[in-house]
Amino acid sequence: MKDSMHLKTQLVGLVGHPIKHTYSPFIHNVAFELTGLDYIYLPFNVIPSNLKSAIKGLVALGYKGFNVTIPHKVKVKEFMSKVSEEASFVGAINTVLIEEGKMFGYNTDVAGVLESLYAYRKEIADNECVVIGAGGSARAVIYTLIKHFRPSRIHLVNRTEQRAETLRQFFKTKIKFDSFTVNELIPPDIKDIIKNSVLIVNATSVGMHPDEDDAVLTQKDLFSKEQIVFDLVYNPAQTKLLKLAESAGAKTVDGIKMLVNQAAKSFEIWTGEKMPVEQVEKALLLKIKN
Ligand code: NAP
Repeated sequence: MKDSMHLKTQLVGLVGHPIKHTYSPFIHNVAFELTGLDYIYLPFNVIPSNLKSAIKGLVALGYKGFNVTIPHKVKVKEFMSKVSEEASFVGAINTVLIEEGKMFGYNTDVAGVLESLYAYRKEIADNECVVIGAGGSARAVIYTLIKHFRPSRIHLVNRTEQRAETLRQFFKTKIKFDSFTVNELIPPDIKDIIKNSVLIVNATSVGMHPDEDDAVLTQKDLFSKEQIVFDLVYNPAQTKLLKLAESAGAKTVDGIKMLVNQAAKSFEIWTGEKMPVEQVEKALLLKIKN
C-alpha cells in the first residue's frame, strides 16, 4: 500500500453511509500500486445531512473524483453539471469526476455488467433472460442487456411484482424495448421461465452475508449446462445460488467480477488508464480468503 504522499498525489474516494464493508479502497489502492499511478483512495462516512458540504469539501480540496454509495446515489445528482446517459437510465450515480470545479456524474454498473457478461454475448443475443430483482442494480442489468446484448425477451421477476411492472413501463417508454414479462418471485410460476432462459441474473440482496444459506432459486433441476448464472452478490464470492448452478453444470459469473469491472470503469474515468482487472480480482479474492 502507498507509503508516501506529496502535493502531486491525486485524491479520490468514496462517499457513503455506512461504509463499513466496502472493498473499494482495497481495489483502487491495489490498482494504483500495480499501475504506478500516484493516486490514493480514501473512504468517507458521510451522513445524509452532510452530503452537500462533504462533496463541496472534496471539490475545494482538489479531489479528482469519488465513488458514491448508499444512501447518496440519487441525491448526489442535484450537484452535477452533467449526468451520463447510463446514470440517467439507471437513475443513480456511483462515480463522480471533478474537473475545473465542476462535477460530472456516471454510473459504472453498466460497464461492470457489460464486461462481466461480454464473453457470453453470442449466447445471450436473441435468447431469453431472467432478471430477478427490481432495484438499482436490476436497472443497470436491464439497461445493459437491452443496449448491448439484445436478448429476445427479458423476464422481470421480483418479490414485489408492482416494482417490476414499474421497471417494465420505464424501459418500454424510455428505450422502446417491450419484450418483457413480469412475474412475482414464486418458484412454481417461474420454473418454465427459468428453464427456458439462457441467462439468469440475481440482482437482489438474497444470499448476501450473513444470510449465506439463502438463495433466490433453490432447485438444482432449474439449471442446465447451456445456462449462464450471474449473481451480483459479492459477499460471499461464491453464493449458494452459484454453487447450485455450478453443480448442475451451468456457467457462473460472480459479483466480485462485476465489482472489479465497475471499479475499473471508475478508475478509467479518473485516470484515463485501464485497470489491470485480472490482477486486482486475484488480489481481492486472496484478501477475502484470508
Ligand atoms: P435495492 O435497490 O435495494 O434492491 C433490492 C432488491 O432485492 C429488490 O428487488 C428487493 O425486492 C429484493 N429483495 C431484497 N430482499 C429480498 C428477499 N428477502 N427476497 C426476495 N427479494 C428480496 O438493491 P440493489 O442496489 O439493486 O442491490 C442488490 C444486490 O446487488 C445487493 O446485494 C448489492 O450488494 C448487489 N450489487 C452488487 C454490485 C457488484 O458490483 N457486484 C453492484 C451493485 C449491487 P422488493 O422490490 O420486493 O423489495
